[in-house]
Amino acid sequence: MASTEGVKIHPAVDNGIKQGNPGFSGGILTCKCATNPVKVRVGAQTAHNHVCGCTKCWKPEGAIFSQVAVVSRDAVEVLENGDKLQVVNKDAPIQRYACTGCGVHMYGRIENKDHPFYGLDFVHTELSDEAGWSAPEFAAFVSSVIESGVDPSRMDGIRARLRELGLEPYDALSPPLMDAIATHVAKRSGKLAA
Ligand SMILES: [Zn+2]
Ligand SMILES: [Zn+2]
Repeated sequence: MASTEGVKIHPAVDNGIKQGNPGFSGGILTCKCATNPVKVRVGAQTAHNHVCGCTKCWKPEGAIFSQVAVVSRDAVEVLENGDKLQVVNKDAPIQRYACTGCGVHMYGRIENKDHPFYGLDFVHTELSDEAGWSAPEFAAFVSSVIESGVDPSRMDGIRARLRELGLEPYDALSPPLMDAIATHVAKRSGKLAA
């Protein structure tokens, strides 16, 4: 087995996974600006929290993975300094609202009603001081960390560390989420009853 010595994934999981509190009902995300930070209320517990290796999700300084979860878009509300938010890429399926001051992504929203995950916003719960958010459950798009410059020779150690943390590594999303996407596609094409 590859050595996991010194392998860093993300600050929220490197010292072990903190379990979520099923009764938790949300909190406030704050960007990294020292003055006039953007504040966003997430008024519900999150789901499908995971670490993600893709090149699109916001990652804290030095981390090779992001940590990202979903929550109903109805539960997300910009409270303060929303004028600092700007969509990173208007053509992307997920409109990621980033702070123009510090670069942190405050939430990602899907506007295409045909998208399998329409109705869910993507949020980084590490931006909140509150404890109890749902714990990360798996690792998505693991091979993609190479696209952000991680040497391929490190991948065995990275996958071994993810497994050690209980975050099963996948090179796409987890099987339940991939199944949900395929079910959505099949219902739209008529292969499955809607
Ligand atoms: Zn900011
Ligand atoms: Zn991602």
